Amino acid sequence: MDRGAGIRASGVEQGAGTSAAGSDAVFHSICEAVPDIVFRSAGDGKWEHVNGRFYDVTGAAPGSALGDGWARALHPEDEVAARQRWLRAAATGGDLQIECRLRTPAGSYRWHMLRSRAVRGADGSITHRVGAMTDIHDLRTTIAELEAFGHAVSHDLREPLRSIKLITQFLMEDSPGMDETAAGRLVRLGDLAMRADRMVSALREHARLGGSEVRRTSNDLAEIVAQTVETLRAGLADSGGAVEVVTPLPVVSCDRALMQRVLGTLIENGLKFNRSERKRIQIGAEEPESPTPTIFVRDNGIGIDPGKSDAIFGMFTRLHAAGEFGGGIGAGLAIARRILERHGGRIWVEPEPGGGSTFRFTVPR
Ligand code: ADP
Repeated sequence: MDRGAGIRASGVEQGAGTSAAGSDAVFHSICEAVPDIVFRSAGDGKWEHVNGRFYDVTGAAPGSALGDGWARALHPEDEVAARQRWLRAAATGGDLQIECRLRTPAGSYRWHMLRSRAVRGADGSITHRVGAMTDIHDLRTTIAELEAFGHAVSHDLREPLRSIKLITQFLMEDSPGMDETAAGRLVRLGDLAMRADRMVSALREHARLGGSEVRRTSNDLAEIVAQTVETLRAGLADSGGAVEVVTPLPVVSCDRALMQRVLGTLIENGLKFNRSERKRIQIGAEEPESPTPTIFVRDNGIGIDPGKSDAIFGMFTRLHAAGEFGGGIGAGLAIARRILERHGGRIWVEPEPGGGSTFRFTVPR
């Protein structure tokens, strides 16, 4: 069924011997075959073409999506904002990404992700917009269910764990004559409960980072480093450690609090897994002008076996016994990795030739 033509082949490369009409027909078939709604608008934002998927999904009358009719198939709560954002993008030529609900023939709604970008002519002027709407309903529902589950688990698990800790304290206070072995076991029980509590809380943080959108703003990394060092001042004084910024740091596009979390983990680890008399952390940037600069955090600590350099980014992975090097649950690097991935960056570690480790991560400017 042809309910409004698919996106035309203008601008699509033609192989030798392929006629423009043939290429158009192939392109039209591709548009009809994909599972997404795909559309093309004129430069002013009025839809000119949409594939049949739009009408299959919404049950709307053929041709009704053209012009600005598509927005009438949206949930009333999404329609006004979606129209406004669409028109703004059409006017400015910016990329657009909107989550909105489309009405189904049965009258229910399904969440879709609308993505669109401008197409420009040789002179740079906007000739069209093209885009797609992807059904993300099941994904959103699953994420919401997982979040609810995670919240329930963390809330319901943490309460008894904290109670165990409290009860061990009461038991010790109520039994002043308790022998040393029993007292030691109670202390251990309380510590284990607190460790489990921290693990549950880390799992929750890790899961939350997977679902929520990262709010990125332009931030001077030098300021974030200074702020992070300030919050670690007491720890730095205790360990006799020093943090030094060895190259100019770039301005990057990031969530400030999350970036502080990453840097805090790397600095703390560099001091923690360190037996040097003068513990030193050096922070700098490689290719600070590139679109995704690389930031390094170098320490003069115990170093990391290159065979384990991937494993340490796994959740609850530690290379040492629970009590060694000041404890820890092995979640810091897993959380740091997830934060950076959510920013479109990555993190890895390499041994330093003279001992110690260098963690590197990329983050877009
Ligand atoms: P935690 O610090 O709680 O153990 P992390 O996820 O931050 O958890 O680190 C995981 C493991 O990676 C650590 O237990 C340690 O074995 C190793 N590690 C991390 N940072 C360093 C470092 N700078 N030098 C040596 N080993 C490190």
